[in-house]
Amino acid sequence: MHENGLKKILIVGGGTAGWMTAAVLLHSLGRQYRIQLIESDEIGTVGVGEATIPSIMKFTSLIGLDEDEFMRRTQATFKLGIQFRNWGAQGDSYIHGFGSMGRKTGLVDFHHYWLKAWQAGRVDRLDDYSINLLACEKNRFMRARTDNPGSPLADIRHAFHFDAGLFARYLREHSEKLGVTRTEGRIASVQTHAENGFVASVTMDDGSVHEADLFIDCSGFRGLLIEQTLKTGYDDWSHWLPCDSALAVPCESVSPLLPYTRATAHGAGWQWRIPLQSRIGNGHVFCSRFMSQDEATAILMNNLDGPALAEPRLIRFVTGKRKKFWNKNVVAIGLASGFIEPLESTSIHLIQQGIVRLVELFPTGGFEQADIDEYNQQSATEFEQVRDFIVLHYHATQRDDTAFWNHCRSMDVPETLKRKMALFAANGRFFHQNDELFGETSWVQVMFGQGIRPRGYHPLVDNTGEEPIHKMLANVKTVMHAVVDRMPLHAQYVAEHCKAPPA
Ligand SMILES: Cc1cc2nc3c(=O)[nH]c(=O)nc-3n(C[C@H](O)[C@H](O)[C@H](O)COP(=O)(O)OP(=O)(O)OC[C@H]3O[C@@H](n4cnc5c(N)ncnc54)[C@H](O)[C@@H]3O)c2cc1C
Repeated sequence: MHENGLKKILIVGGGTAGWMTAAVLLHSLGRQYRIQLIESDEIGTVGVGEATIPSIMKFTSLIGLDEDEFMRRTQATFKLGIQFRNWGAQGDSYIHGFGSMGRKTGLVDFHHYWLKAWQAGRVDRLDDYSINLLACEKNRFMRARTDNPGSPLADIRHAFHFDAGLFARYLREHSEKLGVTRTEGRIASVQTHAENGFVASVTMDDGSVHEADLFIDCSGFRGLLIEQTLKTGYDDWSHWLPCDSALAVPCESVSPLLPYTRATAHGAGWQWRIPLQSRIGNGHVFCSRFMSQDEATAILMNNLDGPALAEPRLIRFVTGKRKKFWNKNVVAIGLASGFIEPLESTSIHLIQQGIVRLVELFPTGGFEQADIDEYNQQSATEFEQVRDFIVLHYHATQRDDTAFWNHCRSMDVPETLKRKMALFAANGRFFHQNDELFGETSWVQVMFGQGIRPRGYHPLVDNTGEEPIHKMLANVKTVMHAVVDRMPLHAQYVAEHCKAPPA
């Protein structure tokens, strides 16, 4: 390490995490530092990770991507939310849509007015009050219209589905233009400084040695630096999230082009469906304690919408996080830092947050333990908040048809989640904690969708009479439907704005 500060950064890994890190560091730190990225074509990348959430806009704007161009290059489609089938009970279906619900109603959140009407039997579904939910249902899409802040069109929130391989390739081109040095080959060994255990260099199969001051470990599940070298340790969360395997397979596209991800629960896990322009990405996340690989494969292949385009590929994982995300002079980002299954498409978001946090706490004049501790604390809290939201989907269920669902329904869950569920079950209340990713709309949609029925609602709602509430709800519903009916179909919008060339 240089005594008077940092000169060279080495990123180990060229998957989504490695190339996103390279792009942001180049944009935010400019040419003050030499940035090198090492990746191995022979090892390859995990090759999944194709659904995102709206926070990805922070990343695309940070590095100045042109959205239409990026969508054409990655065979992308728009995503307005996730449809959950068979989660709360078999035969159930609900959508967790991005964006807001209803309209601003002063101090009390909109859903409390809806709850009062629902408890009185005067309304039946939440979906009529959210532009994103209705657009999913009617298969429509357009980007938010910010020129008319009063219109529901201003509230549309979107993310993307894209091809993970094309995304990494696109970011690589972008970063190479900005000056990153790319080295292809396999790292055979890692050297550390004898006096402090900091990583000093990596040695490639061909014997070449690459030194740096700061190392970013984006080497995927293997955690080449953070775990294999520094033995940082791992918090295993599989007692709360028992799925440990996924089978991934692409299939041919079918019409219509849906503007949402689908997550269908099966007997010991769930299946994703991610529509791209060129194909549909599918996968079955399952728990090997409760289901064999053969059975999981059969379920996946029997539930494809089009002919399969490849053989299913198995990926094993352990849900959890590193005990430290930043240890000595190594910062782990992406799968090297931990993994929470893709039910709410949160991994790419966590990658982005890790990079932004690193820029915010960048060790300009050498490594300060206070910076490292802050980084680790913020990252741990963020992972735990996402974990709780995912556990909610498994735990809040009435399903009792398999041993897996009986286990999930009756397992103990983190105290932080218990508190949120109890608050909602009492009077429909939700409180957003310290910048947590998922806000009130998300939690309310999922808690209600999973079958938690609040016993009451906020008492301030009673200051408004039943008829004015009913009129307000009817009005919001009419406006939402009228607006969504005029939006273009998703496929039409894609064709007009960002049609990709044939794959
Ligand atoms: C089943 C599944 C589904 C997922 N779905 C989603 C989703 O829908 N949305 C989402 O946001 N996220 C999803 N994720 C997570 C997402 O795939 C990852 O967060 C993302 O791809 C980042 O991976 P990575 O870059 O950390 O690792 P990888 O893609 O595994 O890349 C590791 C890199 O390190 C390199 N490397 C490793 N060892 C060496 C070595 N010795 N020498 C040289 N190079 C080396 C490899 O060559 C590669 O370039 C999913 C993950 C899984 C497992």
